[in-house]
Amino acid sequence: MAPDDGSGQDTLRCPCGSGDLFRSCCGPLLDGAPAPTAERLMRSRYTAFARGDVRHLQATWHPSTRPATIDVDDGLVWRRLAILDRVAGGPFDREGVVEFAASWQQGTERGVLRERSRFVREGRSWLYVDGDVS
Ligand SMILES: [Zn+2]
Repeated sequence: MAPDDGSGQDTLRCPCGSGDLFRSCCGPLLDGAPAPTAERLMRSRYTAFARGDVRHLQATWHPSTRPATIDVDDGLVWRRLAILDRVAGGPFDREGVVEFAASWQQGTERGVLRERSRFVREGRSWLYVDGDVS
């Protein structure tokens, strides 16, 4: 959970930084709606990390690379997401790449995770395959 979300679900800005409300951005995806693009899936997975939604992370991870267990560190706060690059990943593509920078804070430590992630579309669903951390 983001530290500034004390205002309740109805007015909560989406953690992914889109500027939209959570309920009209990543909320439906976390509830199981298919992501229309690889970037939307990537954003929803960031939001799932930020909210500790392990179920969504598992559901959107390709079976060939999905870890047996996913640990979400409660002490880690995801503060900001920036999309740096995207290749394909549209509604009519089969594959997509999204590069992002995710800023985190743990106690007094801060850092940025930068990853170039690969996604594939199977039917209506985009799935995360793997990524290169830089
Ligand atoms: Zn969102």
